[in-house]
Amino acid sequence: MIPDCDGAAITVAGLHKHFGRVYALRGIDLEVRQGEFFGLLGPNGAGKSTLINILAGLTRADAGRAAICGYDVRADYRQARRALGVVPQEVVFDPFFTVREVLALQAGYFGLKGAANRAWREELLTTLMLADKGDANMRTLSGGMKRRVLIAQALVHRPRVVILDEPTAGVDVELRASLWAFVRRLHAEGHTIVLTTHYLEEAEVLCDRIAIMRDGRIAALDSKEALLRRAVHKTLSVTTREPVAELPAPLQAKLHRRTGNTLEFVLQQGTDSIPEVLEALRLAGHVVIDIATEQASLEHVFLELTQRTA
Ligand code: ADP
Ligand code: MG
Repeated sequence: MIPDCDGAAITVAGLHKHFGRVYALRGIDLEVRQGEFFGLLGPNGAGKSTLINILAGLTRADAGRAAICGYDVRADYRQARRALGVVPQEVVFDPFFTVREVLALQAGYFGLKGAANRAWREELLTTLMLADKGDANMRTLSGGMKRRVLIAQALVHRPRVVILDEPTAGVDVELRASLWAFVRRLHAEGHTIVLTTHYLEEAEVLCDRIAIMRDGRIAALDSKEALLRRAVHKTLSVTTREPVAELPAPLQAKLHRRTGNTLEFVLQQGTDSIPEVLEALRLAGHVVIDIATEQASLEHVFLELTQRTA
């Protein structure tokens, strides 16, 4: 198990950051507890990567403070950096290094040159299914393999807190599944995990608490269960025998998506009723052959929070 540190895994208070006229962070307050599996969600441009770069000491905030395991990311940079492993969103490598060289350089950066760390790096290669690629140049690797090297690189110094910035963007389904299995194992071993992802279903399955960012602010921060309770929507999918060319206006307004003969309606809980929808379809002369309902997912909550106009 990973030993505990004093205080929260991540503390962020009053963080502001702008790039020219773009305000990337407009006052972020956040605490991630030790051992949490924390989700950081939000549309493109919400400020997630900027926040992560500040935590990693790669970007300097205009105001506010941030600490990893109680170590200020500026005043105690070295300790903060040691406690943190970041898997960045962008894949950037020197194409001429081999996988083992990339990991050895990272170990050197943290002053970890002994046999114990070498053994750990080999273990990482094996776990991440890179063992047979250890001596291959980075430029010869596929996108998915490069991502796995990024993950290994972030873990070389066995950090307590691991932040993954969209680790599965553009990664195939099989690799995604094995990455999640690996991240879950890290979590089970005591690591604090912070994850940003575009795949909301993944956050819904994996995370204990979730912050939803929007326009440089935190629009919501709560347990997954509490966020889901905020959803006021339920979906109803109706399959008709014949394609429906035109819907009555009240139904058209509720229509979310159409796939072949299946119509997907979004119902407001409390005000819209399923029998009403089915009756309206029947009156319009459509024969319903199948229905399915689905409770609100995190995706609905996310869309409500991020698309609602300020
Ligand atoms: P996210 O990771 O949530 O997609 P980012 O933190 O990457 O969001 O970006 C937040 C905002 O800051 C965006 O408007 C983005 O264009 C801007 N931004 C981020 N980094 C830079 C930079 N280095 N220079 C200028 N603008 C930037
Ligand atoms: Mg980003």
